[in-house]
Parts: sequence; structure tokens; C-alpha cells
Amino acid sequence: MCTYIIAILPAAVSTSAILSVCDPQRFAFEPLDPPSAVAPLRVDEIGYRATRGRCDCGTALGEAHGGPGGREREIVRRAQRLARRKGWSPARVARWAEQIDHNEQEREGLARAGETAALAEWCGLVRAVIEQRTSPQIGLLRHDGHDQAPILRRDKTRLAQLSQEQLRGFENDVLYEYVR
Ligand SMILES: [Zn+2]
Repeated sequence: MCTYIIAILPAAVSTSAILSVCDPQRFAFEPLDPPSAVAPLRVDEIGYRATRGRCDCGTALGEAHGGPGGREREIVRRAQRLARRKGWSPARVARWAEQIDHNEQEREGLARAGETAALAEWCGLVRAVIEQRTSPQIGLLRHDGHDQAPILRRDKTRLAQLSQEQLRGFENDVLYEYVR
């Protein structure tokens, strides 16, 4: 099941104006096909696939609900399995677990840096659209799956409240509407 980021804009807004204030290599703003792929929309709204990729799996938006977690438990389980199989001493198991933990922390640090960069990109998009008055508002919605994305509720967010934390906290099928 793939994840998609859907953007909602007022029908009067031209997507070429939007693409002029963001990275067109990264963002597409292609109208949804069919337009009913997100519902219910107001008559003066149009839904778009925000990005160029085939899907948005692994997106940083909403990551707060799908974070890694459980790393330590997994390391302890692996250490215990290994110790049983190889007859290691507790001290040796502890050293091994410490090394693994260190390596994983390094990997997680890299993943976090990537996530921060991705969130900064979304922040930049919303800010550019609103601050340069390309559109009075822009809505973003995260949806998992190919079926119709139901707008469960709308959450109006002022630009001053936009932050990476807010974007990380996206819930599926909630339309976050950013306004000045
Ligand atoms: Zn996917």
C-alpha cells in the first residue's frame, strides 16, 4: 500500500505560478486523475499529486506516527539469540550489543538528517506559496492506499504555526490548510 501526498489549491490558482516558487524537479502539482480521488472537495478546490515520484512512500510528513522505536528491545533479543547459539559469556554479549547499538545510532542519525531535510523542503514550499501570495492558501493531506482519500477533517494552520514538528505530526486523511 503506497502513501501519497495530495495538495489542495483554490481552482483560481495556476499551478505554473506554484511551480515557479518551488523546485519543479521535486514537485509536480498534476491534477488528480480522477479528480474524485480526494473527497469531499469544495466546488472551488482542485486536488493535485504534490510531488513527482510514483508515490510518496517514506515521506517525512506524518513520520511521528510511524517512527522506528523498539530498537533497544530488538538489540537485546538479537544478543540473547546469539549468546545461546554461540555459548558467549555475558560480558562478551554486552560488548557485542554495545557495538551494534553504536552502529545503529549512527544509521539513525543519518536517517534523521534526511528526514529533517525533507521536512525543511515541505516547510519551504508552504512558506513560498503563502508569503509570495501565489495562493491565499495551500492544503496538504497524507493518504495511504489507492482508494479515494476521504477528508476526515480540516485543520486550519496559520503560517506562524508551521514547523517541522507540525509536519511530522500529520495524521492520515486530515487536510492541513495553511493560511497567512
Ligand atoms: Zn509506494
